[in-house]
Amino acid sequence: MRAITVTPGVAHSARLEEIPEPPLSDGAILVRTRALGVCGTDREILSGAYGSAPPGQRYLVLGHESFGVVEAAPPRCGLTPGDLVVGIVRRPDPEPCSACAVGEWDMCRNGRYSERGIKERHGYGAERFRIEPEFAVKLDRGLGLLGVLLEPASILAKAWDHTERIGRRGRGWAPKTLLVTGAGPIGLLAALMGMQRGLEVHVLDRNKGGLKEKLVRDLGGTYHTDAARLHRLAPDLIFECTGAPGLIRDCLGATAAGGIICLVGVSAPGKVFGLDIGRLNATMVLDNDAVFGTVNANRGHYEMAADALARADQSWLSRLITRRVSLEHWSEALQDRPDDIKVVIIFGE
Ligand code: BGC
Repeated sequence: MRAITVTPGVAHSARLEEIPEPPLSDGAILVRTRALGVCGTDREILSGAYGSAPPGQRYLVLGHESFGVVEAAPPRCGLTPGDLVVGIVRRPDPEPCSACAVGEWDMCRNGRYSERGIKERHGYGAERFRIEPEFAVKLDRGLGLLGVLLEPASILAKAWDHTERIGRRGRGWAPKTLLVTGAGPIGLLAALMGMQRGLEVHVLDRNKGGLKEKLVRDLGGTYHTDAARLHRLAPDLIFECTGAPGLIRDCLGATAAGGIICLVGVSAPGKVFGLDIGRLNATMVLDNDAVFGTVNANRGHYEMAADALARADQSWLSRLITRRVSLEHWSEALQDRPDDIKVVIIFGE
């Protein structure tokens, strides 16, 4: 079968090649891939900066944003041939740590977890993949190709879940305003879930007058391109989805009292800023502010995400997929173009 593979650590090593059928050890369910979403993490793996192959293997099958149809499944596993599924990305560490032991592999404490298509496990970017029933999430048929948005949506479902748990430390917590930085797929899904919670949603992005702005407006949110104008906003919540160091610095201490800043974007080290830590600390202590980071998602979050996607306006969601590229032209999907939001590789119907 054909698969998109990469040699981790080697830039520009991605290729479409013939590899053996997926081994039974990957799981009892056989899935035929219909589509694969591409994200910043994939591009980082392609640049050679991130990712690792399964132990002892030369290559890594790329891809963690899956969407496929079950071809074969064992009896009574909850899935039957024809079901639409998405694969969960992370697997618990072998130890397991106290978090992985209770199914919260997204909170793994020793870093020995593995991730399909990212860390030590082949991904979903192959014509067929196998998966364990407990790591396959069944999708509502009505969602169709939009099911490919489930994995990125699971990241935000977790971010919201944790934000709300932190918020509940105060019995009178009633957030009204949300600022999302970055109008990529992650930022837009954060904004969607903010709207679903009845919040006043603001989104900041550099891109002027394009689809991102329209999508935020059509959602009922306010779009901003000038960070300096946000000084007086003092939102109750900030979802930082860019990972841009300068923007993160500007977000710190910028919420209303009792504010929560949720850091979702990953950034590279190397940017050093002068920061008045004393002032920042005084603001955060005296206002009970919280800043936290979040990554990955556990099964419960995939289910929350499926629910959020099912409740969303389907035509709005479909506009998030700005390019569909056939498997034959897979390398075009990995190019980062200025008007892209979510790019999807189509494997077949
Ligand atoms: C994926 C997560 C993963 C993270 C770090 C993200 O792109 O969506 O599932 O945990 O990268 O590897």
